[in-house]
Order: sequence, then C-alpha cells, then structure tokens
Amino acid sequence: MSRIALVSAMHEELAAVLERMPDEQKTVVAGREFWVGHWHGHEVVAVLSRIGKVAAATTATTLIERFGVKRMVFTGVAGGLAPHVNVGDVVVAREFIQHDMDASPLFPRHEVPLTGMTRFAADAALSEALATAAPLAMQDMLATLPQTEWLNLDLSNAQLHQGLIASGDRFVSQTMESQALQRELPDALAVEMECAALAQVCHDYDVPLAAVRTISDRADDAAHVDFPRFIQSIASRYSVAVLDRLLVQLSA
Ligand code: SAH
Repeated sequence: MSRIALVSAMHEELAAVLERMPDEQKTVVAGREFWVGHWHGHEVVAVLSRIGKVAAATTATTLIERFGVKRMVFTGVAGGLAPHVNVGDVVVAREFIQHDMDASPLFPRHEVPLTGMTRFAADAALSEALATAAPLAMQDMLATLPQTEWLNLDLSNAQLHQGLIASGDRFVSQTMESQALQRELPDALAVEMECAALAQVCHDYDVPLAAVRTISDRADDAAHVDFPRFIQSIASRYSVAVLDRLLVQLSA
C-alpha cells in the first residue's frame, strides 16, 4: 500500500486528524511525533510540519527516509496576498516559491542555488484531487459549523483559488511588506512559511506533493488579530474536512 503523509502546521489540525485515525501509533524521530495509522483504508502518517522552512524540510525528509511515504499532502493556513484572495477563501497550490531566497548576484533572485529552479510544481493529479475535494469540504464544514462561529465571514461565498504559493521564514503582518511581496511576485496568491521547502524536498526525492491553505489573514497590519481566532474556529475543522473528502477520492 502506498503510504500518504498528512502534514499540518497547527496542533489543532493534527488533533482533528488523529480523531479520525482509530489505530494510530506514535514514533518520535528528530523530536517530532509521527503518527502511523489508517484513514479510509489508506495507510497514513500524520505529523506537524513545525513552523518555518528548515523545520518543514526536516519533517519532509524524515517522512520519506524513515517512514517511506509515497505521497504528501499539506494542510494549513496562509496569508492572502493577491487582492482577490480573502480571509476564508481556500488556495490549492500549483507552484511554490521561496520568496526570501536571494543568492544574487551569484544566482538569479529566488533561484534555489544549484537547482536552476525558482519554482517547484505541485503534483498535478494530487492537486486536481485536492481541488475537487476543496469545495465539497467547505460545504461539509459549513453544514456542521454554527453561523455564530463564522467570525463574520461570508463563508458560504468562500472562493477556491489555484496557483502560486510563496513561502519564507517570516510571518507577514505588515501591509508594507505584503505590498512589497505583491509587487515582487504579482501572481502569488498566498504567503506562508513551509510549503516551498516541502516542495524542494519532494522534488529531490520525486515524491508527489499537494497543499491546501485556508486564508487566515490578509498578511497585513490586522494579521496578528485575525490569526488565532481563525485557527480555532475554522481552519482546523476545514483541514480535516478536506482530507476526509480527498482520502475517499484517492484509491488506496
Ligand atoms: N502565533 C502563531 C504563529 C504561527 S506562524 C502561533 O502561535 O503558532 C503562522 C503559521 O501560519 C505558519 O505556519 C505559516 O505557514 C502560516 N501563516 C498564516 N498567515 C501567515 C502570514 N501572514 N505570513 C506568513 N505565514 C503565515
């Protein structure tokens, strides 16, 4: 059976995933708790990525080398960058870039040295499956989430976006910074801190990766206010709903 890694950024998300795995066994490697078990007939390994690119890369490498995962799916939250990407929307990644990678003038800006690459692709088939699961999962979640917990968001109108996700070792919480990123990477939909690192590791090992991020903030001056409320009320519920739909779709 081909093992699938379920990587999440937040404790709340992992807790919701573990509730769905009846038989999970914990193994600690590199200070991380890896949970091996089953969900919808798939052998899965659930783990927290931890925050930031290096932490995520270590987690991804361990998943591949020690746990032999053959596919990787990431769920988490991100800041909306492009003007039409709003809080409550969902982004399925098609490409990843490290927005803070800069070895210029030795290498072009954003190029990962010695790879010749600036952007790493998400796996097309896995991302397609995730994009199919995404709106269904939103319906599932809204059917069980009382409207009093929607944080005044119009979640029934939440949009699905697909495209570029930018990662870097910074929580972007200033409008100036977010605007600078938008100018630099006009097609970037969202900003976060892990997935481009996972994508680089998955590229090196030829392991398919797909990622979905709910937009928790607009990466602006209000980001620090919105963030904790969004995680607790919405993001962790959405992550488990989207994985639930995805795993039903994928053949074991
Ligand atoms: N205060 C939080 C910090 C989490 S860092 C805590 O207590 O844990 C933010 C996480 O959410 C990262 O994993 C990152 O991938 C994602 N994220 C959400 N909004 C972001 C933003 N505006 N900029 C960068 N990362 C963001």
